[in-house]
Amino acid sequence: MSGIRIKELSKSFGNFQALRNLTLDLEDGQLLALLGPSGCGKSTTLQMLAGFEMPTSGEIWTGDRLLSSPTSVIPPEKRGASLVFQNYAVWPHMTVADNVAFGLKVKRLSRNDVREGTMAALNAVRLGPLADRYPSEMSGGQQQRIALARALAVQPEILLLDEPLSNLDAALRDEMRFEIRRVHDEMGITTVYVTHDQSEALVTADRIAVMKDGELQQFDSPTEVFERPKNEFVAGFIGKNNIVPGVSAGKSAIRIGDRVIRGQDTNDVSEGGGAILAIRPTKTRLHDGNSLPAGLENGLPATVIRSAYLGETRDILAELTTGTTMRVMVPPEQQPAPGDQVMLELPADQCRIMAKG
Ligand code: ATP
Repeated sequence: MSGIRIKELSKSFGNFQALRNLTLDLEDGQLLALLGPSGCGKSTTLQMLAGFEMPTSGEIWTGDRLLSSPTSVIPPEKRGASLVFQNYAVWPHMTVADNVAFGLKVKRLSRNDVREGTMAALNAVRLGPLADRYPSEMSGGQQQRIALARALAVQPEILLLDEPLSNLDAALRDEMRFEIRRVHDEMGITTVYVTHDQSEALVTADRIAVMKDGELQQFDSPTEVFERPKNEFVAGFIGKNNIVPGVSAGKSAIRIGDRVIRGQDTNDVSEGGGAILAIRPTKTRLHDGNSLPAGLENGLPATVIRSAYLGETRDILAELTTGTTMRVMVPPEQQPAPGDQVMLELPADQCRIMAKG
């Protein structure tokens, strides 16, 4: 088995550039999530990985094998890749086992090898006991597992998943996320997973490529992407973040209204340039009154606008003197009321400061 190397990959449809200079390396056995909003170029990238589309420029390699370039594309059936689509497309007139066996029969394996390969794939997705059922007798989640087993049965070098869970209801989607990760851990197949759902990416992936408008925004581990977003788009797209505009006040500092807040710089913002501060509602603290308790720093005065009791936490919306609103999750014992003057404490190690836009 081998990893995947994508080098300066671009794709245009007529005058429209759907993907721009994508470069990334995926190690053997890793699971990569291509994550981004609709139209960011995820499926176009997957289609090129599968061999259905030819790059306009750039290359895709696996090990020392060139899979795609503008002059040569190894066809889908010769790539050793399996694909699972969102409409899992299992064959209704075949039993579960026959659905999964199909790819092995096409390979002309012996009857015994087909049976063993089928059962191994079904057991991997925990459908072994249901091998003789028909898809119509199974739930959406189970049907998606059949599609996954069918893809795994042929022992692909690369597994490509295109929004595989988007047709499932929320509860099944939750369960299948863990299932996909578990199967991946068991089989160790290099996998590329397309999704617009950040929690799917966080749960399943070793590496996440966050994309927007055909461009890679950040390529990192889930923790890095969540805790250290590299730009405003990633900060706003992954999880809930307060994005507070201000002006750079030199290295690792931002001026918001008449206050200077210190944090972690993500990239160089020249002093006086437009900057933003990103901090999660769960990391922001709220103190009564007009000043922070002694010894604390990085405070912004604010007025409470809304206070909503959520059981385990209270969700506060507060307005800064600059007019920007911030969400703060506080313990339920804290009960600020609308109209109260409060101080929001922004711990420096939780503040990411970056260029605006
Ligand atoms: P979604 O989550 O909606 O599937 P995506 O991130 O997968 O979005 P792509 O399907 O890769 O996005 O499309 C990227 C852009 O390229 C879109 O603006 C799309 O309209 C355009 N595009 C994709 N395929 C073609 C095509 N065959 N011809 C013209 N434009 C295309």
